[in-house]
Amino acid sequence: MINSNYEANGKAHPRLNGNSNGYAESFTDEIGAQHVGTSYDTPLKPGAFDLPDEEKMKQVESHFREIMDVLGLDLTDDSLRGTPKRVAKMFVREVFSGLNPANKPKVSLFDNKFQYRQMLVEKGIRVQSFCEHHFLPIYGRAHIAYIANGQVIGLSKLNRIVEYYARRPQVQERLTVQIANELKSVLGTEDVAVYIEAKHMCVEMRGVQHEHSSTVTTEYSGKFLNENTRAEFLQAIR
Ligand SMILES: [Zn+2]
Repeated sequence: MINSNYEANGKAHPRLNGNSNGYAESFTDEIGAQHVGTSYDTPLKPGAFDLPDEEKMKQVESHFREIMDVLGLDLTDDSLRGTPKRVAKMFVREVFSGLNPANKPKVSLFDNKFQYRQMLVEKGIRVQSFCEHHFLPIYGRAHIAYIANGQVIGLSKLNRIVEYYARRPQVQERLTVQIANELKSVLGTEDVAVYIEAKHMCVEMRGVQHEHSSTVTTEYSGKFLNENTRAEFLQAIR
């Protein structure tokens, strides 16, 4: 099993810097506070959200049309004509909308009247993401658990948090840790477990074609580092 030791922002990802793409130094500093420095943040360039969505869609549309053209497709064909625009909208507004912090779900907690302080498990949350190395889908299920610290979160919010972090180019290990970190932060507890089992289309469609294989990533912290607590969680999601 892959665990949280994975260095998601390792040197393998060359980050565009302020000098190479023309952004002013001040943008570097501003974004730096939010996106750079912790190991599990998605690698974003400085000024990543300076352009409004409309402008991003225009540019993606134009570049995608170019890609299709280079591949030899006839863009005057009725079936293909609208594709660049559709892809642009899908990238910016849908499948990669979780890149933009403005789209982060607002999470409110409420008091746990029953003082339930046992493990709460939400199983089978849908995961739909994209591999950042091939831009092909990753799909599977997430199972999440936490031990309430007097306050609880609406169950649908767990789904929203998973969806937000999934809607970006991802690696499964980073997705797992990002969800766990967000849960720790909103719930005010370290007692969090995230388990994701997913299939990667880039593996299924290419090369080795292990169509029956899936990838499991986990992140345990707080009481879930305890063997018995972890066993109870794994039993619950079986
Ligand atoms: Zn891939």
